[in-house]
Amino acid sequence: MNVLWLQAGGCGGCSMSLLCADTPDFHAHLRAAGIELLWHPSLSLASGSEVLELLQRCADGRQPLDALCIEGSLLRGPNGTGRFHVLAGTGVPMIDWVRRLAARARHVVAVGSCAAWGGVTAAGDNPTDACGLQYEDERPGGLLGAEFRSASGLPVINIAGCPTHPSWVLDTLAALAADELTAADLDTLARPRFYADQLVHHGCTRNEYYEFKASAEKPSDLGCLMEHMGCKGTQVHADCNIRLWNGEGSCTRGGYACIACTEPGFQEPGHAFDQTPKFAGIPIGLPTDMPKAWFIALASLSKSATPKRVRDNAVADHLVQKPALRRTRTK
Ligand code: SF4
Ligand code: SF4
Repeated sequence: MNVLWLQAGGCGGCSMSLLCADTPDFHAHLRAAGIELLWHPSLSLASGSEVLELLQRCADGRQPLDALCIEGSLLRGPNGTGRFHVLAGTGVPMIDWVRRLAARARHVVAVGSCAAWGGVTAAGDNPTDACGLQYEDERPGGLLGAEFRSASGLPVINIAGCPTHPSWVLDTLAALAADELTAADLDTLARPRFYADQLVHHGCTRNEYYEFKASAEKPSDLGCLMEHMGCKGTQVHADCNIRLWNGEGSCTRGGYACIACTEPGFQEPGHAFDQTPKFAGIPIGLPTDMPKAWFIALASLSKSATPKRVRDNAVADHLVQKPALRRTRTK
């Protein structure tokens, strides 16, 4: 399966993330999965007229295109002309190139939350009129329109994340190369379910603190980051705490709240990323699959039953209370 990768209005962080893929030989990994990079702006030697010739051949169908990967959001401004981002050497706006190439591609893949939803680039007043390939935040549409289907019959595949996890990209491309990614393998926002059917909360090392509502009060604390520090891991679809980053990390393991970077509109939560919005002292964003009344009842019960060890460690930057050595004769 050949892959053409273009960068639109983003920071390039998703390509940087891709280079952190957990493999000793990145190119051999691609070859083993049957993936051939036609061109990638950071990984390919070809430049200038060679690349323009390739793009032209893809656009007019002389070069079959299996997967078009777009990183970064699509800049439609000013006034719908797309001239805020003209592809160098062509005089043609990037959005026009993307429309033409998407019409030829067997699969179209949005790499990262910019390409999926508009992401950080679409934040604030959005002066560049940035959007995603098929979404504008959670609203279907974007550059290609809600009805767009690539030649394979699939919508744009949204590998959302900011940056997106390298394995999410490689596994999606490998599944496409093996012809094993169907509409049933995408969630309702067209994210691959192999990573989006989990919550960031799953596998978080702070789960014991969460269960007892023993909460961190400052960034270095060990406790759960939900009550005060802005963590949305109970509501956010991604397997970051199961499929670790760089083999061992995640935001919550590094001491940072999950800010929901795989979800549409994450860039403008309406509050500081590291603070939890509350009403009457209760976090507004509660676990998605739990009635609010139950959560409140369980939280007050578990808080009253919090072991001293968990309570003390939650507000420390290292274990100040070790688990007791006590024989329970548990079989
Ligand atoms: S999704 Fe995030 S990391 Fe990727 S290009 Fe956009 S801003 Fe950069
Ligand atoms: S820090 Fe976030 S992800 Fe971790 S246990 Fe608390 S709510 Fe869940």
